[in-house]
Amino acid sequence: IPVDPFDLIIFGGTGDLARRKILPALYRRFWAGQMPPEARIIGAARAAHDDAEYRAMIRAAIGEFVAPEKQEPATVDAFLERVRYLTLDARGDDGWDALCGMMRNGVVQAFYFSVGPGLFGDLAERLHRHGIADAESRIVVEKPFGHDLQSARALNATLAQHFDEHQIYRIDHYLGKETVQNLMAVRFGNMLFEPLWNARNVDHIQITVAETVGVGGRGDYYDRSGAMRDMVQNHMMQLLCLIAMEPPYAFESDAVRDEKLKVIRALDPVAPGDIVRGQYGGDSGGPGYLEDVENPDSLTESFIALKVHISNWRWKGTPFYLRTGKRMRARTSEIAIVFKDPPHSIFGVQERQKANVLVIRLQPNEGINLRVTIKEPGPGGMRLVEVPLDMSFKEALGPEAEDIPDAYERLIMDVIRGNQTLFMRGDEVEAAWAWTDPIIADWEERGDRPRLYEAGSSGPEDALMLMHKDGRRWREVK
Ligand code: NAD
Repeated sequence: IPVDPFDLIIFGGTGDLARRKILPALYRRFWAGQMPPEARIIGAARAAHDDAEYRAMIRAAIGEFVAPEKQEPATVDAFLERVRYLTLDARGDDGWDALCGMMRNGVVQAFYFSVGPGLFGDLAERLHRHGIADAESRIVVEKPFGHDLQSARALNATLAQHFDEHQIYRIDHYLGKETVQNLMAVRFGNMLFEPLWNARNVDHIQITVAETVGVGGRGDYYDRSGAMRDMVQNHMMQLLCLIAMEPPYAFESDAVRDEKLKVIRALDPVAPGDIVRGQYGGDSGGPGYLEDVENPDSLTESFIALKVHISNWRWKGTPFYLRTGKRMRARTSEIAIVFKDPPHSIFGVQERQKANVLVIRLQPNEGINLRVTIKEPGPGGMRLVEVPLDMSFKEALGPEAEDIPDAYERLIMDVIRGNQTLFMRGDEVEAAWAWTDPIIADWEERGDRPRLYEAGSSGPEDALMLMHKDGRRWREVK
């Protein structure tokens, strides 16, 4: 179903994110017939380009980042006709009058801030001052949203001077992932899971986001941030909220976000002994963390594992173990709900069945897997065996699921539709920082040194101990 006609202005339209994610996502929506003919995309950045040069840049980006079967030349040409370029300085006067002259009435207006966070305030202020944005315009703000609670508050306050909360779309692209939305469908669309979804029945929960890449060209940014700020405060916190939240009364933006906020507020402070930080070493696959960030004294973590408790009726006593890192063995993102053992085995000690585990796989091969116990086939008596009830979306849904949309496709179309459900509200972001800040402050004060871990491994040994000491173990990173 096509969305309403829109003007989407991408500040930072020549940047890495715009070329790799935003414009390819828009092209795929165009290819799928979701973009109305009147829609227009305007890339705006500091460098001087004309429309033709910019279109050539975007044609190359589509060539690189869109599947070849979706690149019919006529379709690419038709898409590029909708794309314009404007030279504009976020901090100066250049380009703003021209932008003002380009705006149309009667279409949805969205401004995507795909620039460094230092420019968010400048953009908001100039959009307002030049009379470009109105009360229905939307702004899309990229991560990182603040560096700590104080900066996040300041940023929220600056944006609030010019825009209402209902106009502000704070992106966390994890929320746009198909499987993450499926998490809500599984929880609230079935009778089967929700009655068991609590501390009485769930032993613990594991959330893993493992990457094989290092910090790459983003060393400078990453070293000032680290895994806690870059992954846990936002993406993993969002996953945790969707698993832990109470059922919202409707799948509506504030109903869902109210429930997520309650989870964040119920998080306990984390004891230093429940945190393991790591830095990857070098190997034949590349240099180690310290060389990657060109800072031999860096104390920033490229890996973190932590045990988190939620103090509310539903979850008291059930730990959530979170782990994320770079240069790990495999690129895996998954959430595992590990249920308790049955209270009594009628089959004797030999046949003690393993706990049920529900795994929600974000990547690779998105899907859901439930480990259940059955009888081993054969005449040998009542022997038990664990088998997976495995549902790969691709296999289960066929061609429909072959083409799972990228998170940015879903999220940008939601901006045009005016649906904020999958975007973070200002108070959520602040609450997440309020929980994160003291944890970071503590290790900074102590000068905590991250443990070295082998590139291509599953993280430092101590991270394994974090679970072993509780009589539990991490699922394998594979
Ligand atoms: P980039 O450095 O590649 O691009 C920055 C863009 O901003 C360029 O188009 C540049 O021309 C423009 N710009 C810089 N100063 C300007 C000014 N004064 N006026 C107008 N335009 C100006 O950065 P990026 O990697 O594309 O990241 C953009 C934003 O998205 C950042 O906030 C970043 O944290 C966030 N982000 C990026 C990624 C990614 O994978 N690249 C992922 C998540 C979030």
